[in-house]
Amino acid sequence: AKEKGRNQVQLFDAEMNTRAISLVKIENELRYALEQNQMELHYQPQFSLQDGRLAGVEALVRWNKPGVGLVYPGDFIPLAEKSGIIVPLGNWILETACRQLHAWQWAGFYNIRMAVNLSAPQFRQFSLAGNIADILRELALNPDLLELEITESMLMEDMDIAITTMTELNRLGMHLAIDDFGTGYSSLAYLKNFPVRRLKIDKSFVKDLASKSGDAVIVSSIINLAHNMGIAVIAEGIEYESQHQRLRQLGCDEGQGYYLARPMPATEMEKLLQQESSR
Ligand code: C2E
Ligand code: CA
Ligand code: CA
Ligand code: CA
Repeated sequence: AKEKGRNQVQLFDAEMNTRAISLVKIENELRYALEQNQMELHYQPQFSLQDGRLAGVEALVRWNKPGVGLVYPGDFIPLAEKSGIIVPLGNWILETACRQLHAWQWAGFYNIRMAVNLSAPQFRQFSLAGNIADILRELALNPDLLELEITESMLMEDMDIAITTMTELNRLGMHLAIDDFGTGYSSLAYLKNFPVRRLKIDKSFVKDLASKSGDAVIVSSIINLAHNMGIAVIAEGIEYESQHQRLRQLGCDEGQGYYLARPMPATEMEKLLQQESSR
């Protein structure tokens, strides 16, 4: 047995070993960050493009790293997914977002929707729906206002598991949105198999909307087909007035982007909610 063990060790080259060690290091760092309350959620508003009303927010995680400042999710979520720490981190994100939604409801903001991003390993967990159900039950929270964002690739990876999970989440009253729509391999035709409430048109399509006519055709057909299937559409990455206007003309339901509002801490979001409710 000893001999075998030694042979196996030789299978790993130095580079792989270094990578494994640094992944363990990052996992420990992220676990510690979670314990030390260094993670926080910011919220980016989502507005109706038809009447300008604030419809919901998307929760976006940040790591407030001492001595460094805010670290953005692009710099740690992929590592968290590789190391497995994404599961406890993802649960913390879900719970924090639900608590925030609950707090806003208690403050009288009844109709604000909360969108939460799920990562692939989280989505593959059999306990996901049960975990969320537990949080909702504990808070006596109406699941109708909770929206879970998953990407196309998460759907396509294992369709059977995806359909089972989505049906279960749907049965519990939650809604699903397909994030970064148009960047993956799926087509709208696939969507009829899934209980989807909303499509988020990826920001790459929004980017050249006002200038490139090709993208307007794509965006327009996504909107029309989605609407024909009873699915709502939100565009992300709206940075300019011209994009905002074009999306309105094309009949897009909602929008999100720096032009409308940046992601912000909960306290700032509350001020916006106050303003909205008094207008
Ligand atoms: P995403 O889900 O596509 O989120 C939208 C990203 O676009 C956010 O970046 C947001 O700050 C940014 N954004 C918003 N408006 C604009 C705009 O007008 N222009 C441009 N160029 N960007 C805009 P952020 O917060 O850095 O998040 C990056 C990605 O990290 C997210 O992409 C998502 O995939 C992931 N992520 C963020 N929070 C979470 C989370 O809580 N859980 C998981 N699993 N992933 C998360
Ligand atoms: Ca998202
Ligand atoms: Ca997105
Ligand atoms: Ca993205």
